[in-house]
Amino acid sequence: MQIIQQELHYNLNELEPFISSEIMDLHFNKHHSTYIKNVNDSLLKYPELKFQNIDELIINLNNLPEDIKKIVRNNLGGHLNHELFWRIMTPNASSTNFTDNFTKVINETFDSYKNFIILFKKECNSFFGSGWVWLCLNSEKKLEILSFINQEAPIFYNLKPILGIDLWEHSYYLQYKNKRSEYIDIFLNNLINKDFISNLII
Ligand code: MN
Repeated sequence: MQIIQQELHYNLNELEPFISSEIMDLHFNKHHSTYIKNVNDSLLKYPELKFQNIDELIINLNNLPEDIKKIVRNNLGGHLNHELFWRIMTPNASSTNFTDNFTKVINETFDSYKNFIILFKKECNSFFGSGWVWLCLNSEKKLEILSFINQEAPIFYNLKPILGIDLWEHSYYLQYKNKRSEYIDIFLNNLINKDFISNLII
């Protein structure tokens, strides 16, 4: 099994002015592609491990040889988190819409979308270090806002990720410097593909 990086659905400069093309270039072409390379290189050391697909690899993460167990987990998480993150963002956020079902589930769980955003931001702003905040569906089909350190991925915990933000400094520092909360606000207000994330709640 070889992981292949999917192409972006937009150009590197199309998230400007919210995310600079310099950040996107480094983030997509260097950080994300390195996570993929690290997983592929690690698995190449053990050709006898023949995983059919990523799902099978995820299920077997704890059974991997000791010398690659951690590197595969970290980098596979990095790949999975980023692959979805690129899809969550769009240059055309203002012309996308939440489905009625998405709005209904958000309202049932958090009272309103506005209140969901308050809680999501609170989780982001209180998160320390490198990691992610994700809105996830748990195994009981309930929505939860959760933070994950480093490149831990929701799917490793049987959670389905719906909406997440990369809080590693590489995702914002070149543009926002120490103003992480500004990056969080900009992301939530201007970049979310509402059609795409709505369709993840099924
Ligand atoms: Mn990142």
